[in-house]
Amino acid sequence: MRKEPVKIKEIDAKTRAGNFNEVVLGYSEDEALCEAGRCLQCKNPLCISGCPVGIDIKTFLHKITQKDYAGAYNTIREKNNFPSICGRVCPAEYQCRIACVLSKKGQPFATPQAINIHFLERFAGDYGMRCSVSAPSARNSGLKLKKVAVVGSGPAGLCCAGELARAGIKVIMFEGLHKLGGVLRYGIPPFRLPRNILDCEIESLKNMGVEFVPNFIVGKNKDLEELFKDGFAAVFLGLGAGIPSFLGIKGENLCNIYSANEFLTRVNLMSAYEFPKAHSPVNIGKSMVVIGGGNTAMDAARCALRLQLMNGIAPNTTILYRRSEVELPARRLEIEHAKEEGVQFRLLVKPQEFMGDENGFVRRLHCLQCELGEPDSSGRRKPLEIPGSDFEVDCDVAVVAIGLKANQILTKVTPALKTDKYGDVIVEPETMETSIKNVFAGGDIVGGEGTVIEAMGMAKKAAGAIIERLK
Ligand SMILES: Cc1cc2nc3c(=O)[nH]c(=O)nc-3n(C[C@H](O)[C@H](O)[C@H](O)COP(=O)(O)OP(=O)(O)OC[C@H]3O[C@@H](n4cnc5c(N)ncnc54)[C@H](O)[C@@H]3O)c2cc1C
Repeated sequence: MRKEPVKIKEIDAKTRAGNFNEVVLGYSEDEALCEAGRCLQCKNPLCISGCPVGIDIKTFLHKITQKDYAGAYNTIREKNNFPSICGRVCPAEYQCRIACVLSKKGQPFATPQAINIHFLERFAGDYGMRCSVSAPSARNSGLKLKKVAVVGSGPAGLCCAGELARAGIKVIMFEGLHKLGGVLRYGIPPFRLPRNILDCEIESLKNMGVEFVPNFIVGKNKDLEELFKDGFAAVFLGLGAGIPSFLGIKGENLCNIYSANEFLTRVNLMSAYEFPKAHSPVNIGKSMVVIGGGNTAMDAARCALRLQLMNGIAPNTTILYRRSEVELPARRLEIEHAKEEGVQFRLLVKPQEFMGDENGFVRRLHCLQCELGEPDSSGRRKPLEIPGSDFEVDCDVAVVAIGLKANQILTKVTPALKTDKYGDVIVEPETMETSIKNVFAGGDIVGGEGTVIEAMGMAKKAAGAIIERLK
C-alpha cells in the first residue's frame, strides 16, 4: 500500500496569477485510485465524525478503489448534494481530514499524511457530473400537490430546493440578485470554483422541476404573508450573511476603500476582470491592501493581484491581519496559493487610520504592530497593540474583509420573525423552524458566517422537517 499522499496537480503560480482560470486541476483516475488506496478502512472511521454532514467517507473511498465511481458519487450524494462544489471549497483540514487517523495528532490542522478526502470527493463529484450519474431517487412522499418557496439561492437554498424537489414537492426559488448561487457566485472567484460547475448543479435542479425567480427580493417585492396567500405551504429562508463589517476607523470613507463584498461582487458577479467587455469596472491600485485573514480576504487579495498583473501593474498586494499565521481562519490551501502567487502578508498588524490626498482618495494606512495575549472568547489568542510601534503602509486601494453580518432586508420588515442580537434568525435546532409556523431557515442567516457544507447540513435538516410537516 502506498504511504505517501498523492499530490494534486495545479497550474504553476506564475501562469495562474495572470488569469482567472481554475488553479487546482484535480486527480486523474490513476491518482485517485492510489490516494483512495491509502485509506486504512478503519473499523471506527473517525473521518466521518469530522464531516459536518456525516458523509460515509470510508464507503465512498472503498468504492473508488473498486473503480465503482458512480457508487462513490451516490454514497456522497446521500449526504451532500454538491460534491463537486464541496470537493473544491470545503476546509477539509479542519473537518474530515484532521479526524483521519493518518493525520498527526495535536496539530491545529490536518497534516499532509491525512487522506486527501476533499480531492477524492471532487473526483467522484466530477465523475458524476461528467457521466450524468443520476442522484439517488427519493421515496415517493405523496407530496406532489404541495408548493414550497425557497428564499435565497446560496448553498443553503440550493440544497433545500434539491431535497424538496426529490421528495416530489414543487419548489420556487426567489433570489434578490440577477444570477443564482449566492456566495458561490458573487464571492468565491472562478479560479477556485469554475462557473460551469455551479451552472451544472443549478441546471440539475431545473431538470428536477425547481423554478427560479431571480431579481426578486422577498421583503420588498412580496412579504412572507403574501407568499402564503399565493399558496405556498412552507417557506425556507437561506438569506445568508451578506452585510459587510467595517473597521470603524478614521478615513474609512475615503475613495477606493471597498468592502470585500463590493470588491468581490464587482469582480466575480459582474466580471470586472473582463472590463470593458463586461460593464462593471473596479479600481485597481499600485499598492493594494486587504485587511482580514479569512477566505474572503484571501479571495480578495488573490483577485487584486490578478487584476494588477492583467492590467500591466507590478504585483503589489498585501494582506494585513491582526493575529499570527496560525490563527488565519482561511483554508490552508488558499493561504499557500496566495503566498505562491505573490501576495504579501503582514501579520500582527492593526489598522488605525486611513489617510488620503486632497481629492479624497486613500493613499496610506497608519497601523500599529501587535503581540498575542491570552485567548479570547473565540479561543484564539487576543492581539494586543504595542504602544509606539506605529508605521504606515502605502495603499491606493484598500479592501476591508473583516467579517459579514446577517442579510436583514426580510427580517427587518417581519417583526414576528425572531432574531438574536446579531440579527441572525432564531430556529428550533431539531427542525430549523423559525418563530413563524411553517417558515424554516438555515445557512449563514442562522448562527452567522459558516461554511458551505454547514449551510447545506442545516438546509438538509430543514428540508426533512418541511417534508414531515407537509405530510
Ligand atoms: C468570499 C467568501 C469566500 C468563502 N469561501 C469559503 C470556502 O472556501 N469554503 C467554505 O466552506 N465556505 C466559504 N465561505 C462561506 C460560505 O460561502 C457561506 O458559509 C455560504 O455561502 C452560506 O450559504 P447561504 O446559502 O447561507 O448564504 P449565501 O451564499 O450568502 O446566499 C444567500 C443568498 O440569499 C439572497 N438573499 C438574501 N436576502 C434575500 C431576500 N430577502 N430575497 C431574495 N434573496 C435574498 C442573497 O442575494 C444570496 O444570493 C466563503 C464566504 C465568502 C464571503
